Amino acid sequence: MHRHEFLKLLTMTLASTSVSACTGVLNLRPMSPTAKNNPIEDIQPTPRPTDDNAVWDVIVVGAGIAGLRAAHILQQNGRRVLLLEARNRIGGRIWTEDYAGLALDLGAAWIHRTGGNPITAVANQLGATLITTDYDDLKRFDASGKPLSAELNRRVEELLERYIGQARKYAENQEHDLSLQAAVELILDASPLSTQDSRLLNYAINTTFEHEYAGDADRLSAWYFDAQEEFDGQDVILKQGYRTIVDFLEQNLEIRLNQAVQRVAYGDGGVTLTTAQNVWHARAALITVPLGVLQRGSIRFEPPLPAAKQQALGRVAMGLLNKCYLVFPEVFWDDTTLLGYVGDRKGEWAEWLNLDALLGAPILLGFNAGKYAYGLETQSDSQIAAAAMQTLRQIYGKSIPEPLSHRITRWGSDPFSFGSYSFLAVGATPSDYDTLAQPVGKRLFFAGEHTQRDYPSTVHGAYLSGERVANEILSLL
Ligand SMILES: Cc1cc2nc3c(=O)[nH]c(=O)nc-3n(C[C@H](O)[C@H](O)[C@H](O)COP(=O)(O)OP(=O)(O)OC[C@H]3O[C@@H](n4cnc5c(N)ncnc54)[C@H](O)[C@@H]3O)c2cc1C
Repeated sequence: MHRHEFLKLLTMTLASTSVSACTGVLNLRPMSPTAKNNPIEDIQPTPRPTDDNAVWDVIVVGAGIAGLRAAHILQQNGRRVLLLEARNRIGGRIWTEDYAGLALDLGAAWIHRTGGNPITAVANQLGATLITTDYDDLKRFDASGKPLSAELNRRVEELLERYIGQARKYAENQEHDLSLQAAVELILDASPLSTQDSRLLNYAINTTFEHEYAGDADRLSAWYFDAQEEFDGQDVILKQGYRTIVDFLEQNLEIRLNQAVQRVAYGDGGVTLTTAQNVWHARAALITVPLGVLQRGSIRFEPPLPAAKQQALGRVAMGLLNKCYLVFPEVFWDDTTLLGYVGDRKGEWAEWLNLDALLGAPILLGFNAGKYAYGLETQSDSQIAAAAMQTLRQIYGKSIPEPLSHRITRWGSDPFSFGSYSFLAVGATPSDYDTLAQPVGKRLFFAGEHTQRDYPSTVHGAYLSGERVANEILSLL
């Protein structure tokens, strides 16, 4: 997922108010005067119950960035906190793997817009090496593998600007929301595009919006798909991987891995959480599992969650973006940061990140989103790699080497995520994020990227949601 400069420009042209409102830290809710919240402050060992059967102040379900950040603050403020994590690792959708001394991020990779972004502050204080991504450093190829002419490259931007601009205006004047794709098609009905322009526009919609929001354009709400705020500045990746951040946050926290919570029973007396191995007790529970997990009903809440929350769960969508790393014996591709493929079929292997440019390694990273990505998940790794290679051979010829290895994600079928990140589908509104954030009484609290209206679907949004909920809990407990 990455934010294209174009998006920013387009947003500035079409909705200048939302950009001027986007001043980062000003939007953050202040910590309570007594709450400690410096991520780098000395981490105190938790005053902890002596065994797992004791009553904790707060049990946090999920050790992703939202849960870790919240637990960190609660512990700094003297609360006894335990995290229950279903996987055998922490980090959730932050998942860095080592490959030959390189850190490859299988989930989040970018700090989007570094200026005012709280993740930048943590990364800088930890001395992390940040590498800027220049999205304009891009070479595009047509369906037959020939580089796009300068004129056709300009045409991609022109078509996007014109048709998305018109589609949004059209949508704004409707009584009911409709999908971005439907709005574009209604505009195109009046003056259909040539086959070539249509391919270019499909490519642009896919790589600019479908990859960004992890949703097909025929599901993205034309009214709200990009309603969230952004910070300023550039996008960067962390040379040592995103785990730098979560590894820091987990220090001295009490975490139990391989504990998938199946049942959460709550009432005035406290909360009881059940996993296959144990029953856990706390004065309050903080649920940070992904939207996809809540939607699937993997956790039984007793009593059931309020109707308003359940309805919001049905409206906000869980999107899908998958990654396919191909490791080659040598670099055979162009030296631009990104490679674009304007194929015959929309959304198939349209965008590649060149890790030679970023990390000096002969690795290409292909992205796929939405329906096409779901379809690929049903195939074997070697079938997926073969499909990727077809595109690369189209561009660079039949004699390019086979990859030495590949690493392919399947976030859609991951039982502890069921998707990559949330987006606003037709029928959903930004206030649904607020509803998902609301506590239930004084015992059940919620955080995670899908609960942060200003910055959903990002690491910084999840992190800020952890801060928000820690404050809520501190004021009550
Ligand atoms: C492929 C991909 C690329 C992305 N790229 C970026 C990017 O470049 N920049 C960016 O800012 N964001 C990106 N994101 C989004 C970002 O990763 C997420 O928004 C963020 O990490 C979510 O954090 P979270 O704490 O809300 O959820 P999670 O990280 O998912 O944490 C929730 C935790 O709950 C656990 N859990 C689930 N079910 C249970 C259960 N029953 N019991 C106990 N534990 C459970 C999970 O295992 C997980 O550890 C990307 C995501 C993906 C998948």
